[in-house]
Amino acid sequence: MSEGGTRQLAIFGGRPTFAKPLHVGVPNIGDRERLYSRIDSILTRRVLTNGGPLVAEFEARIADLVGVRHCVAMSNGTVALEIVTRALGFEQEVITPSMTFVATSHALQWQQITPVFCDVAPGAHHLDPARIKDLVTPRTTGILPVNLWGRPCNIDTILSVAGQYDMPVVFDSAHAFGCSYKGKMIGGFGQAEVFSFHATKFINSFEGGAVVTDDTGLADKVRLMQNFGFQGRDTVVHVGINGKMTEIEAAMGLTSLESMGTFVEHNRRNYHAYKAGLHRVPGVELIEYDEGERCNFQYIVIELDERITSVTCGQMLEILSAENIDARRYFYPGCHRMEPYRSYFPNAGLLLPNTETLLSKVLTLPTGTSVSVEQVEKITALIARVVENGPSLSVRFRAGISRKSSYANAACEA
Ligand SMILES: *Cc1c(COP(=O)(O)O)cnc(C)c1O
Repeated sequence: MSEGGTRQLAIFGGRPTFAKPLHVGVPNIGDRERLYSRIDSILTRRVLTNGGPLVAEFEARIADLVGVRHCVAMSNGTVALEIVTRALGFEQEVITPSMTFVATSHALQWQQITPVFCDVAPGAHHLDPARIKDLVTPRTTGILPVNLWGRPCNIDTILSVAGQYDMPVVFDSAHAFGCSYKGKMIGGFGQAEVFSFHATKFINSFEGGAVVTDDTGLADKVRLMQNFGFQGRDTVVHVGINGKMTEIEAAMGLTSLESMGTFVEHNRRNYHAYKAGLHRVPGVELIEYDEGERCNFQYIVIELDERITSVTCGQMLEILSAENIDARRYFYPGCHRMEPYRSYFPNAGLLLPNTETLLSKVLTLPTGTSVSVEQVEKITALIARVVENGPSLSVRFRAGISRKSSYANAACEA
């Protein structure tokens, strides 16, 4: 296409598509009045934490929604992962994907457990069950798969492989609250699952997390460990930590839960707008949700095939960023390329070819209740325009025009 088509892109000095940056993971906020009245009740009661009624109510609501016996609310998802894996006796080596937020591996490494990174299947985003057996050693004590983007991993197959070795499985379902697998809510699989209610997640409690399980013994142990190992007032029966959720976090969590239907509906509309807008854009594949299942539609993820788009993932990111579309390369460059894993296992990438290929193509785009369908339509139109002009853009990038983008970015932020 002609130069004229690209002249107005913000990266070349044009006016950005949006006046203010659109971010990934802007918090979904429920009914303020409900939140304020709950906070007021907390202050009147003077029970701020330690077994207050709102945390108990939040736990009961989560357990009920997920269909499990027990929910232990936590200060965050990372501590929840650390506590439940410790309670289950995970040690030495645990098999887990590298294609995840670094908290998954950190929760293990923090306890001196080695995360053994398992590749994703070709073209997939989740841990490849077929690779697990190659990674099992006499030191393997468990599997920690991730239900990335709120899409279930291959849960049945992973559980059956784990069963062959009699190994416990904990699912990192930080993204997957409100989602189902084969008609059953995520949260009810394996020995236990962990949710995150961090501000950026679908349902938030400012910060927060939870362990959910049907195993009463495990739930009891997890509850002890998250409160310094206390059993009653003066008896400590286990080493523990402080992983408690506060009442004010539970107030936010409960208020978020009440708006869950609205959040899903909003996300679903955005998802469909993305789908419609990107449908005919060659080289850009929207990762679809299986709408036969319950989905939270919280992550809009695209894969770029640069052989078709001409522009690389990094260049697309720069172009979007200049337009005030703050896309993210989640979870680039992969846990195995972050410290300390990178130094411990400098050659891990050799065993993770699919993960590396995937991470070179993936972008996450803004959605959530702060992003409107009209904004999504502008984003998809822009991506379509970039791809249409891909060859000439890539020439300009090669000619070093990208220096101008830093200038444009600085100007936008100023
Ligand atoms: C957010 C997240 C976590 C950690 O949750 P926090 O509540 O932020 O500690 C763990 N795993 C994944 C995949 C996440 O996205």
